[in-house]
Formats: sequence, structure tokens, C-alpha cells
Amino acid sequence: MSFKELGLAEALVRAVTELGYTTPTPIQTQAIPVVLAGGDVLGGAQTGTGKTAGFVLPLLQRLIEAGPAPRPAKPGKSARAWPPRALILTPTRELCAQVEASVRAYGKHLSLNSFAVFGGVGIGPQMAALRRGVDVLVATPGRLLDLHQQGALDLTQIKILVLDEADRMLDMGFIRDIRRILQLLPKERQSLLFSATFSDEIKALADDFLVSPKLIEVGRRNAAAEFVSQVVHPVERARKRELLAHLITRNNWFQVLVFTRTKHGANKLAEQLVRDRIPALAIHGNKSQGARTRALAEFKSGELQVLVATDIAARGIDIDQLPHVVNYDLPNVPEDYVHRIGRTGRAGQSGAAVSLVSGDELAYLADIERLIKRQLPHEPIVGFETRLVATPGTAGERRGQGYKNQAPRAPRAQASTPKGRGQAPAPRQAKSGKPHGSTAAQPEQRRRNYGEAPAPRQPRGFSGGLQGKSSRPAPALLGGRRG
Ligand code: AMP
Repeated sequence: MSFKELGLAEALVRAVTELGYTTPTPIQTQAIPVVLAGGDVLGGAQTGTGKTAGFVLPLLQRLIEAGPAPRPAKPGKSARAWPPRALILTPTRELCAQVEASVRAYGKHLSLNSFAVFGGVGIGPQMAALRRGVDVLVATPGRLLDLHQQGALDLTQIKILVLDEADRMLDMGFIRDIRRILQLLPKERQSLLFSATFSDEIKALADDFLVSPKLIEVGRRNAAAEFVSQVVHPVERARKRELLAHLITRNNWFQVLVFTRTKHGANKLAEQLVRDRIPALAIHGNKSQGARTRALAEFKSGELQVLVATDIAARGIDIDQLPHVVNYDLPNVPEDYVHRIGRTGRAGQSGAAVSLVSGDELAYLADIERLIKRQLPHEPIVGFETRLVATPGTAGERRGQGYKNQAPRAPRAQASTPKGRGQAPAPRQAKSGKPHGSTAAQPEQRRRNYGEAPAPRQPRGFSGGLQGKSSRPAPALLGGRRG
């Protein structure tokens, strides 16, 4: 099946051909015809599947087919001013900017324009751009509402709405904002929802605003990216930085994306790597948008060897064939692991994801393995071997979870090195004073990282992991709403 055979216009086929896409990915093959036919879509697809083109290409075509936007020529108003007809909501600034870049790339041969609006940067230029007129608006929820409240945005002409990475939006506490935005949109419209996982909240949201959606799922839900080799290197927490530097220099790794759980941890690690003469920068919500964009550009161009990122900051980073992802800290939300390793092995390319795991993270590891339904192989690194045993006072012990395989996997593991014995347990308190393992703490924390307008915290977090349950599939929604 080619892009042309999917029914796409010549100008769109030309654009993707110029980008080097020869064959549509499975999500594209399934989603494009449905969207072209005007149907709603509930898409179960994680990042790296080509989902962005899966909704952007047909969305653009629908807009061209609908004809040019009405250009109001009210006295005193620019004759070019026209309200957006398509709205794409994303959870983070990076994803927002990136999706908008995709809209521009795929629409380069069309006479449509697009614009991204997100928080953390001045609102003035965004208001000015909206005054000039926009066809496709890509936005984070908080800034979109700000613009609307300030009278800078007319949402009454929206014909197509896309919620991208809806699970992440809910995780970040955006549900109220999303529901408020839905109230501002015309009832008659086409709606698409994409999510890597389906929690009860996603089901409820989809039930509320999609009409007889076509369910499109690619890959196993919550399955870790297929082309990524995944491995655990057991290590004492105090020696993680040393091991990371060792792996990078010994293996001559370039373009390494390293995940830490906290902003402070990201800063500290980047500084230490620089001291080890490894070019590294940290990106997280406390960095200015300019600093983050620069770091990302240097990383993408290959100038910067290591980018250290928190989960939120890394959301939406899209780099083709990113070869190495390192989990310096395991995420306390198991779904984040799937998102993290989705940074590598994208769209069929191979990649490697390594996790540096210390005893205090065994419960997180167990949650992840439960979610991805497989055990990750342990490969001790010579000189860093250690026996992984849950550290007293850590997540595993608090939740009463043992670890089924406490035997050392190294042929001759050091039971506990002097360094290990004297080692303090990993810091368990976030700055807010809330435990790291608290899902409830996350949306607010993440919102603060992102500088979005505040919204009440959600009583329910991600389904699964932290309660010791995996995310459930959504049979009622999936079966019941198929149109
Ligand atoms: P996404 O899942 O939308 O984040 O896309 C992941 C990556 O796959 C992006 O770098 C896209 O440019 C790339 N991509 C999307 N569709 C295709 C395709 N049909 N062929 C090759 N690469 C693609």
C-alpha cells in the first residue's frame, strides 16, 4: 500500500516522498482512510509509530477539500485574519513545537498555514500570529485557554480536533482544561484521540467526546518498542555516574539520551559528566525555552554527546535513529519506561535502551516488567557487579513487594561492596516533600515543571503500576464504541 493508494492528494504524497517516506506505517495505513472519510478515531499508538503523519496528513487533506477558510474583511481587521479550523492539543511544549513542524513539513506544498502556541514564552507574539490568521493550531491546553480568555482566539470554526498523547495530558492534570476546551468547540466536528495507554480516565474522556470512533491499535498496548534491545545493568546507586561515564567512553556512544527522575538530578549529572569531559547538557522544565531549544538543536546535530532529561522535558523529542537511551533512574510510573525507550528504535530503526538499576529500584523494575510482560535481561558490567537486593526503606519494601530473583546474575558477584554497605538509601523525597512513588503528586509537579496554567490535581493517576496493577485494556470502550 502506498501513500497515493491511501487516497492522499498529490501535494501530500510529494511532501512525504521528499521526506524519504516510501511506505506508510501500520497506524498510517489504518488511520488515513478513516480520517479522510470524516470518521472519529480512537488511536492506540505510542510515539515512534508514525502516528503524527497518521493524523496530520488526512487532516490537511480534509482542510483543502473543505476549500479556503473564510477570510473576514471586517473594517479595522486584517483581511488575512481567519480563525483556525483544525486544533491539535499536545501535553508539552516540545511535542507541540514538533507536531507543528510536522504540519509544516507535510503541508509544504499546500496553501495552508499552522502555528504552535504553548506556555513558558511570551503570549504577545502568539496573539499577533492568531490575529493574522491560522488554519491549523497546535497548542498546549493551558496556553490555549489563556489566549481564549484574553479574546485572542476564536474556536468556533474548529472542524477537526486531535488530542495527541491523551494519556500524558491526563497524567499531567489537564483533564479540566481539556473539558473546558471541548465546551468551546462546535459540537459538529471530527475528533481524534491518540494515546499510548488506555486508563479508565481515557475511556471516560473518549466516551464523552468521540462519536462512534474507529478503534485503531498498532502493536501491543503498553508493549515496549519492538526494535529496541533492552538490558539492565545492576549497579550500586553511588556508582551510577561512574558506570554511565564508563559505558559512554568505552563504547564510544554518541547521541545518548539519559533520563533522570528529578530536575536536580538531571542538572547534577550533566555537570558531573562535563567534569568527566563528556559534553552533556540537561533539559527540564526549569530551563528557559530558549535553553531547551538550543540544547535539543545541538543534540540533534550531533554536537552534544549526551542530553540528560526528565520525563516531561523529553516528551516529544523526536530524533531519527536515536541510538542510545539510558535510564539513569528507573521511572516510578512504569508507562514512562515505555515512553522513554520509544525515543530509540523509532519507526522501525533499531536502538538500545539500558537501565542502570540499583537495589532501591527493584520495585520499579518489577512494575515495568509486569507492564511490558517480560523480564529484562541483567548484564553486569565488569568492575561494577553488585547483588541487587531491595534496599531497606525503599519502594519495594514499603509496598511489601519482594523481588523474585535476588540471586546475583553475575557469575561471581560481589555480595555487597564496602561502598555499597555504607551507602545511604536513594533520596526518596521530592522537593515538594511528597514521596517519589506518589502518583497524586505527579500532575502538579509536572505542571509546575511546564509552567502551564494551574488545574486541579486529578484524584486518579495513571492506571496500573503504582497500585501494583498493570494498565487494563478497555474492552467496554473498545468494543462498545466501535462504529
Ligand atoms: P511519530 O510516531 O509520529 O513520532 O513518528 C516517528 C518518526 O517516524 C518520525 O521521525 C517520522 O518522521 C518518522 N516517520 C513517520 N512516518 C514514516 C514513514 N511512513 N516512513 C518513514 N518514517 C516515518
